Amino acid sequence: MRKKIVAGNWKMNLDLAEGIGLAKTINQYFREKPSGERGVILCTPFIHLAGVAEILKGGKVELGAQNCASEQSGAYTGEISATMIKSTGANYVIIGHSERRTYYHEDDMLLNRKTLTALKNGLNVIFCCGEVKEERESGNHFSVVKVQLDNGLFTLSADELKSVVIAYEPVWAIGTGLTATPDQAQEMHKYIRKLVQDKYGKETADNMTILYGGSCKPSNAAEIFSKPDVDGGLIGGASLKKEDFVAIVEAL
Ligand code: PEP
Repeated sequence: MRKKIVAGNWKMNLDLAEGIGLAKTINQYFREKPSGERGVILCTPFIHLAGVAEILKGGKVELGAQNCASEQSGAYTGEISATMIKSTGANYVIIGHSERRTYYHEDDMLLNRKTLTALKNGLNVIFCCGEVKEERESGNHFSVVKVQLDNGLFTLSADELKSVVIAYEPVWAIGTGLTATPDQAQEMHKYIRKLVQDKYGKETADNMTILYGGSCKPSNAAEIFSKPDVDGGLIGGASLKKEDFVAIVEAL
């Protein structure tokens, strides 16, 4: 059985005190009302990681970063390595978010290196893919996602892929209030699972967790999550409010 997950991506929001406060309320909620088999992950800014790790210690909520360096260590001013992330207590990292691809020009080759470095250092990877509006409107969304996965992810061994979660995030739906319809999400998730199957076989594909991301909120989460190939969500804006975030987890 593949794992169901809701991961919050705080992006560049919340100062340290606010982040610690939010982590405390979310952690407290899932201590009193266990999340069962569902995985709950908070992906915080780097500077929050160590403090939030202290709060989450011993609980079921897991911790992740939103990016990591492609290189192991050394003279890379301003970068944060996978080992550093791991040393805080975090065990996930988001790689390939569309905001990294767009604003920081991270291409598939770089994202592939980041993924391999993260895995080598014991982190699980949430690997993001997704098309922009024009690509969907021109009917190229499947081929765009295929290229992102072929280049960024499908160089991994089947064993390495076990530590990867794929997040399908149509770029036109991120932070825009526009959401893919449940059928659009299902169609792409099914396609992604088939790509995994063609490359790695049915067992790997059946076990692959594929999250949907893009303006997911309490009012639409249950319907999107009800689709057979949607195994949870990567949540941006709605992960910044405890009530919304836990409602989305409860919808799973
Ligand atoms: C995201 O940043 O991964 C995301 C899905 O954002 P939002 O939920 O705000 O659209």
